[in-house]
Amino acid sequence: MKQKGLLYTGKAKSVYRTDVKGRLIVEFRDDITAFDGGKKDVLENKGSYNAEVSAFIFEYLEKNGVKTHFVTMLDSKRMVVRELCMIPLEVIVRNVAAGSIVRNYPFVEGTKLNPPVIVIDYKDDSRHDPMLNDDLIVALKLATPDELEKIKKTALGINRLLVKLLALQGITLVDFKMEFGRAGRTIYLGDEVSMDSMRLWDRKTGESLDKDVYRFSKGDVMATYDRVAGRITKKMVVMAKPAKAEPERAPRR
Ligand code: C5P
Repeated sequence: MKQKGLLYTGKAKSVYRTDVKGRLIVEFRDDITAFDGGKKDVLENKGSYNAEVSAFIFEYLEKNGVKTHFVTMLDSKRMVVRELCMIPLEVIVRNVAAGSIVRNYPFVEGTKLNPPVIVIDYKDDSRHDPMLNDDLIVALKLATPDELEKIKKTALGINRLLVKLLALQGITLVDFKMEFGRAGRTIYLGDEVSMDSMRLWDRKTGESLDKDVYRFSKGDVMATYDRVAGRITKKMVVMAKPAKAEPERAPRR
């Protein structure tokens, strides 16, 4: 596959056309930003850590019946994906109160949210990604009511799978953001699922294991990304093995 011209460049990823119909290449760059781009840096290898974790999570989700845009990795930073028509929504699932909902609503940080809370923002930096509701999403023609229902159901299913996966590594999935897109009439999970888009806490120590380390200068960002990427993907080897034991044979007579 040949990489062609740049299609889109975001704050931390670039998307390229390819010579294959319906396939794009996403490059995970080493740029890291926070607060609507108000804080930015370049951290060596950051792109590879996020690409590795995203690829692992997409594969895990696919194995569990979730449709994602992931096709394959080209190298440590470049992922081949299915071309989607992206829906400009940031779909956030929250299992524990933290971040903006603690700033904006009377939640105490660390409060468990059961059932999980879905928050959907309009992806528009110039408007600071304002929160939407179902009526606004439909009125703005961002998604049909059926699509919205499907997106929410899928988001909750993905959340269940990720909570389970991360718990195996002693990590609490506090919240995370997803973006979805259409290919024909089918909705796929797009974008990335990485330390930049998830809020992760160590179950024992409560330590942040995600971009909050960068946002709030809590320590060595790359050391954290290195450790957490290792923890998440280590389980891949174990989880990729067949879960079921061989069926027992009937005893020979
Ligand atoms: O800042 P807030 O608490 O709303 O973020 C909720 C979750 O969504 C966090 O895990 C954060 O990393 C993620 N997020 C994101 N991209 C954004 C906004 C939030 O990945 N533009």
